[in-house]
Amino acid sequence: MMPQCQAPIPDRTLLDYWARDLADGDPTDRVEEHLFACGDCSERLRRLAALVTVLSTLVRQGRISGIVSRALLNRMQRDGLHVRMYSLAPGETVPCAVFPDDDVIVTALQADFSAVEAVTLSVTGPGDSPFSQLDHVPVSRPDGEVLWATPAAVVRQLPSMRLQLTLASAGATRVELGSYVLEHSASTPPA
Ligand SMILES: [Zn+2]
Repeated sequence: MMPQCQAPIPDRTLLDYWARDLADGDPTDRVEEHLFACGDCSERLRRLAALVTVLSTLVRQGRISGIVSRALLNRMQRDGLHVRMYSLAPGETVPCAVFPDDDVIVTALQADFSAVEAVTLSVTGPGDSPFSQLDHVPVSRPDGEVLWATPAAVVRQLPSMRLQLTLASAGATRVELGSYVLEHSASTPPA
């Protein structure tokens, strides 16, 4: 096992370094020397960079959470992001929580997409309060799932609540394809 870093470089500094915002010379040299010798912080830099890539993809698409493809999910995992997956079949209620190490929460919603090409995902909180709505999400039949990703940092802000997720066919007809419940618990489980 790798020894734990005794003087971890702060996330802020790692991000600046990654974005090349650190002044040339001393601060950069010091970070580079540390990273060269420290597997712990190098790994954190790798995960931060991967998370920023995912976040900027979502933000570029005008959303903080969104639908990701299997390919992007695989890429996140390959990049070392800690992805927590919850998989739900229609009608299922699943308890969910964020663990300290999580980077991204992905909810896989299964449904029969044989008759549709695109779906609408609606997420509502307590008292039917709208939480998120994603329209015209293209679906591919062989997958039979929609992957909804939210950064763990966002989910950590949520109080304990029940989230109702509904998949319906996109367009005027709006046939319901599946409804799912996430029972979110705000208390952090032991790592
Ligand atoms: Zn270190």
